[in-house]
Amino acid sequence: MLYQSTRGEGLRVESAHAILYGQAPDGGLYVPEKFPAINNETIMNLIPMSYSERAAYLISMYLSDFDRNELDRFTTAAYGTDHDPAPVKDFNETTKFLELWHGPTCAFKDMALQLMPYLLTSSGNKIGEKRTSCILIATSGDTGKAALEGFRDVPGTRIMVFYPQDGVSEIQKLQMTTQEGMNVNVAAINGNFDDAQTGVKKIFADKEMTDDLNDRNVFLSSANSINWGRLVPQIVYYISAYCDLIRYKKIKISEKINFCVPTGNFGNILAGYYAKKMGLPINKLICASNRNDVLNQFITTGTYDRNRMFYTTASPAMDILISSNLERLLFELSGKDSDMITGYMSSLANEGKYSISDPIRNELCDVFISGYCSEEDTMKTIKTIYNKNDYLIDTHTAVAYKVLEDYKNRSGDDTVTVVVSTANPFKFCDAVLNALGGSYSGKGLELLDILSEKTGIRIPGPLADLKNKTPRFNKTVSVNDMKSAVKEFIGGI
Ligand SMILES: *Cc1c(COP(=O)(O)O)cnc(C)c1O
Repeated sequence: MLYQSTRGEGLRVESAHAILYGQAPDGGLYVPEKFPAINNETIMNLIPMSYSERAAYLISMYLSDFDRNELDRFTTAAYGTDHDPAPVKDFNETTKFLELWHGPTCAFKDMALQLMPYLLTSSGNKIGEKRTSCILIATSGDTGKAALEGFRDVPGTRIMVFYPQDGVSEIQKLQMTTQEGMNVNVAAINGNFDDAQTGVKKIFADKEMTDDLNDRNVFLSSANSINWGRLVPQIVYYISAYCDLIRYKKIKISEKINFCVPTGNFGNILAGYYAKKMGLPINKLICASNRNDVLNQFITTGTYDRNRMFYTTASPAMDILISSNLERLLFELSGKDSDMITGYMSSLANEGKYSISDPIRNELCDVFISGYCSEEDTMKTIKTIYNKNDYLIDTHTAVAYKVLEDYKNRSGDDTVTVVVSTANPFKFCDAVLNALGGSYSGKGLELLDILSEKTGIRIPGPLADLKNKTPRFNKTVSVNDMKSAVKEFIGGI
């Protein structure tokens, strides 16, 4: 299986190359030349397997330059064998929750970032890359911690994370600033997530910087969701959830289901689309936005317009106005028309907007439904589900649930739908406590205990451990100083 760029027709690379270097030289994103197919027989084969076996089986269809034994070792090391990393909660007859937050950092980013260090290291070996990779990350909160944890003390790598100073939850901030490991660094920036992402992209494009790093035997790499190594592990849990629904007799083989996904950078839901392209029986993919509903507007009108207010919300991982992975979807919907995609992306860069053609729009609306959820409704949803169903969900998952409810009400669609649950509610305990209402007093980590007492749910281990840790990284830099912060970090090798 070879990979091509969304912006050029010629280039073809192996998956190791796509994973190691992240972005194509023409500025496009790497996509597989074609999609491997699965059918009922594949599903039946996968059903008795553990999650890590399913992952190795499916990922090997994409990473043909990796051998199967190697992938088996990696997925076993990443996901372990003692628990199911992606259990499906049987909420009611037509709604299920796919809980993707049982990993070390309590958010779905772990599903990819627990595996990615193995893929990256092995890719380096395959290609004969001898330099140290310096992974730069702009995070809206969850990717940063998951990547720090995944790459901590991995030989041949260094990792630096930038997060928006006021754009992450208290717990997320502490998770990052207390990170252990010899090869890690973390800084807050004065700006929002889009500023952080733009700052990182600038460093990647800075020739003087990359030459200087090269002289020190270092090259820049990314673990953001534009990296193919982030996306391919995410395809697995869509298929795995389907297998579990069959296994527990919630659906019949070949029955179509919907997925509803709380969306920011469009990485998670794109993996669902890829699963559908492979042949997984998916009816609709429901794209849920918070108040920053640039994607909902796009799906409803066909115009992507980032020239709008940016809001800080209670679901910060979705506070994004530039959804990078949309480029990959448009590439497929356009029949791989790289000229058209290049046009859209340059119009986005220059004018902040673009409008898609009617045929692409029709293809889009065939599969995707969208909706948005206000701050007030996010809070109400958490409270209602907790009171009525005794199930506690986080702010991002609440956005998805509400959007699904609205869709069901207006369409009458009663297809079994899996809500992709992306974070443990304790990660956003201040907002969740507010949603539940009632009075309490406390701040910071005390809120974990308060939420635990109130609900009788145990604080997840990795978050409880924060109490015994001291912050190591307290620096805030301006967007213009991100480059010198990276230089300083590398200088200290
Ligand atoms: C990252 C994240 C999202 C958004 O996922 P995308 O792949 O960026 O669309 C949603 N919820 C949580 C909790 C996240 O961490």
